[in-house]
Formats: sequence, structure tokens, C-alpha cells
Amino acid sequence: MELQYKVQNYDWGKLGPDSTVAKFLSSADPNATIDPEKPYAELWMGTHPNGPSLILERNVLLSEYIKDNLDAIGPAVKRRFGVAVPFLFKVLSIRKALSVQAHPNKEQAEDLHRNFPDLYKDPNHKPELAIALTSFEALCGFRPLEEIQNHLRKLPELTRILSEESVNTFLAHKESGESGVALRQVFSSLMTSDKAAVAASLQSLLDRLEKEESTQSSLLYPLVRRLHTEFPGDVGCYAPYFMNYLQLRPGQAIFLNANLPHAYISGDCIECMACSDNVIRAGLTPKLMDVPRLLEMLDYSSYTPDHLLFSPQLEDGNSCIWRPPVPDFAVVKIRVESGDSYNTAIRASPSLLIVTSGTGSACDTEPVRARPGVVLFLKASRQLTLTPDAGSHLELYQAICNV
Ligand SMILES: [Zn+2]
Repeated sequence: MELQYKVQNYDWGKLGPDSTVAKFLSSADPNATIDPEKPYAELWMGTHPNGPSLILERNVLLSEYIKDNLDAIGPAVKRRFGVAVPFLFKVLSIRKALSVQAHPNKEQAEDLHRNFPDLYKDPNHKPELAIALTSFEALCGFRPLEEIQNHLRKLPELTRILSEESVNTFLAHKESGESGVALRQVFSSLMTSDKAAVAASLQSLLDRLEKEESTQSSLLYPLVRRLHTEFPGDVGCYAPYFMNYLQLRPGQAIFLNANLPHAYISGDCIECMACSDNVIRAGLTPKLMDVPRLLEMLDYSSYTPDHLLFSPQLEDGNSCIWRPPVPDFAVVKIRVESGDSYNTAIRASPSLLIVTSGTGSACDTEPVRARPGVVLFLKASRQLTLTPDAGSHLELYQAICNV
């Protein structure tokens, strides 16, 4: 069943036809008009109340439909999650950095929701998977200790505003199981620094790097300057010196488990997450920040970029699956070449599918015209037959429960 979906015009989205979200919308819906000045940030697929999908042919919300059609969910998902689509599936088109953030684990989320229901509106965890559709930049996880130490040694503008003791302890530290404690102290010192001091130190750093061409690339000048243009004086502009800077190629993915710090910087991606809105922010945002809580929860382990890339498993010649270590969701990528036809694997879970390129037909009981941006709901234990048009191919992403 084809779905109509909600598009979110958040300020950080790519503008008009530059946005993959806008391209999908205009290709799927002939009546849609794209405003070239407007940001098209997110496309939401699922049953979340802030952007619920509608079943086109029935003109009924997917969330309502599944209540009356339990077979759509299937017994395995119903047992684990109740009558629900327990994940939210999205396309993101990012022009401007999103906040430095982390998400609570299940236990922390239950606690936060109980104590601060206005800030943390649901008791669920929010693991996330992002798969690049275009070249995609993100900050993710803390860097290896030596890299952070190296940065600090070359950044007197930064260390001047940090507690001297935390800097000295951190610089003397060797990578070990205890490294997190020293990193936590020095990072906390940064995040709790006086705002005016942070802004002044950033300005003097950028003034210096502008003239020092030889150190510009090792000290990430282009990136920090760009963040500073988007968020002048914001403490998050220092985040690249602490966190890994990843540049994903289309098809590469990262999985963001509980408490892993991250910030998306630019590009388009497919994103899947548990059905939750629990975000704890600490910079690069005009939204509410909860710095003490973030500092307390963060995963202070060091990661290398290789560590953070999340690889899919091949299922057959046409499909591969990213299966994160959570039951809430997994994402399948399906590709069918011209002249071929493919039956999707039967899953114990309901699916949301989005066509990302090519044209053809997608058939369960009734054929649907597949073209970029078309979103389908497939009941549990059912199969789609995908047939590209002559001379075309079909590429889809399918979100399912990982049960
Ligand atoms: Zn996130």
C-alpha cells in the first residue's frame, strides 16, 4: 500500500531542489510544488504522532489501520512491541550542522521520562542507523586519545580556557581502560566553560589559522571555520578536535548506539531509529541543551573511524542488510537491475520501503508504480515482486523490525 508521508521543513535542511527529500516528494507526488527558498530537511515514514503516514488508497492513517488489521504486524512483532510499527524511518537532507547530541539507553530514558516528562516525552531508547545517500559528513564518537592530545598541544587558544589541572592530567595520560576518566574531565571543562571566553578563544584560533596555511589541514581549519560560520562562538565548534570526523561515501553507514556522541554535518542519508524523540544536546543548536546530563551519560571510549563504520551483510545477489544490535529495527537495501525481476525476502515484521532510484513496478496484490520517493507499507510475512521498467533499474531501502 502506497503511503503519503510528512515532510519536515526544519531550518537546517537543504534548500528546494538541492534536497533529496524535495526530489523524492516531487517525483512521488505530481501535485507537490517545491519552493526553491524553503528547507526540505526530513521525510518521515511510520506512525510517530509528529508525522504519521497515511495510506493513500484508503485515506486512513497507518497507525489506525494496523489496530484493525493485526495480521499486518504479525505475531513476533506484536509479542515484542505490541500493535505498533516500533521504528521511525527517515530521509534526511542536511545543509547545516545538527546539534552535538547523544541518546539515552532504555533505562536512562525511562528515568528521564519519569523525572522530566516535559523534556523527555517518551520512555524509549533511540538507537540510530544512518546510511549515506550522497557524500555525508558527521562527527561521531571520541577520537583515539593521542589524536585529542595532539590537538590540545597545538591549540593554546583552547587549553587556555580549560581547567589547567584537567589538561595536565589528560596530556600525561596513556591510552588505557581508564582513559575515559581523564577525557571526561577535560571535555567537561570545555563544555562548562564561560560562553564569552569560548567565543573569544574561537575567534583568536580562527584568526591565527587563517594566516598559518601550513597547519590549516592538520587543525581542521576548513571544517571548524564552516561550523563557526553556521554557529558563531558556539562551543560545539571545538567538537571536531575531540570527535572523529567521518566522510561517508554513498552506501556507507554508521550505527549510533546509546550515549555515543554524534553530530551530522552535511549530506543526504537514510535514517532508521527506534520510535523515540529523546535527544540530549550540547552544542551547535539553538534548541535546549542539557550539558550536565550529557556529560554524565556520554560514552567516553575512544574509537577509530574504521570502528565506527557499520557494515551490512549480504543476503543474496540483490539485497544486503544492516542489522544493529537492537530488536527495534534493521534496514535492507535492495537493487534490481534492468531485465531482472526480484521477490523480496519474507519477513516476520511489517516493512516500510522507499524507492530511492529507478522506475518499474512493485507488486504484492496490486501493482504500484515504483519511482523515486514512493513509499510503501508491506504487511508482515508478505512479499513484493519488483520489476524495473525496460532500460531502468530499481533501488529501494526497506526498514523492518529486527525480530
Ligand atoms: Zn542522533
